[in-house]
Amino acid sequence: MFQITLEDIAGESQVERDWDVAIVGGGPAGLTAALYAGRSLRKAVVFEKLSIGGQIAVTDEVDNYPGIPSIKGPELAKRIEDHAKKFGAKIVFAEVQKLRKEGEGKFVLETTDGEFRAKAVIWATGAEPRKLGVPGEKEFTGRGVSYCAVCDGPFFKGKPVAVIGGGDSAFTEALYLSNIVSKLYLIHRRDEFRAQRIYVEQLKSKPNVEFLLNKVVVEFVGDKMLKGLRLKDTKTGEESFLEVAAAFVYIGLKPVNDVIKDFVDLDERGFALVGEDTKTKTPGLFVAGDGRVKHLRQVVTAVSDGAVAAIMADEYIREVEATGR
Ligand code: NAP
Repeated sequence: MFQITLEDIAGESQVERDWDVAIVGGGPAGLTAALYAGRSLRKAVVFEKLSIGGQIAVTDEVDNYPGIPSIKGPELAKRIEDHAKKFGAKIVFAEVQKLRKEGEGKFVLETTDGEFRAKAVIWATGAEPRKLGVPGEKEFTGRGVSYCAVCDGPFFKGKPVAVIGGGDSAFTEALYLSNIVSKLYLIHRRDEFRAQRIYVEQLKSKPNVEFLLNKVVVEFVGDKMLKGLRLKDTKTGEESFLEVAAAFVYIGLKPVNDVIKDFVDLDERGFALVGEDTKTKTPGLFVAGDGRVKHLRQVVTAVSDGAVAAIMADEYIREVEATGR
């Protein structure tokens, strides 16, 4: 039954403002950090601006999490969330817009729900889908152009669609879509794929899937809704038109690190240059998950980062407390 709590009525004033560990981002890395912080008996809060689960919340199936051969992405997200809550994690739905450090063990987070203070901060905002940046993409977003197959795929049941990209995301989401749509075109700018071979083989075996290789989308075309794509062959320069009802763009990820850019070294693409210990050049600030440079971006590496970051944060707080800074 829906219940209104005192906290709902009183609004922001009732929310606890002082925490040991503030975790920004409610994906697998952030939630696991909360779980581990809780197990270290640290008071941990997770800030999430939209919805819990990060990338897996919009992934149909996760088939490479050890011990769970197959699980729907949102179901796995819910399980990790419940697990973190079991160890006392609190989730606040607010966007962190600014970060300040006012001394060792003294971080201030300016959010859309007011200011919060924490002794350590774990930045686990991950990454968001990159855009192609070609004509029509913006105009037809939500009207045929999508970055989320699980959210929008069912609207195009029985219709022809395209998936753009040659990485794991393009292939896993194409596999999902191929079970719904009449025909699926996988459009990739090369004739080799970054995607794991198992996904490539699975997609190749689908009778309603056609690979359009060495092709790029130069324009999304339509009127009220998307009608098709203008393609260009990267080898011959020849242009063609492909009629589709929807196009799902999976061309990689862009890290969400703007707020921390003054506290952390970033590479040329904006990923945080931190190692396996998740430590940044700012003591007390850690980066976990897809937003840091790493060789493998998967749930299993995100949760690993979250666990490490929480232990590092606990160690940092202990040092600060011991030295009385
Ligand atoms: P990704 O691995 O970076 O692949 C991006 C793909 O988009 C590449 O094939 C790339 O082509 C293509 N691309 C990039 N810019 C383009 C442009 N302007 N025009 C046309 N094509 C363009 O990104 P992702 O597939 O989103 O995956 C992100 C991370 O999540 C990866 O580390 C991936 O392994 C991981 N992930 C894992 C799983 C899983 O294990 N089940 C599922 C999903 C994602 P080129 O190859 O030519 O550069």
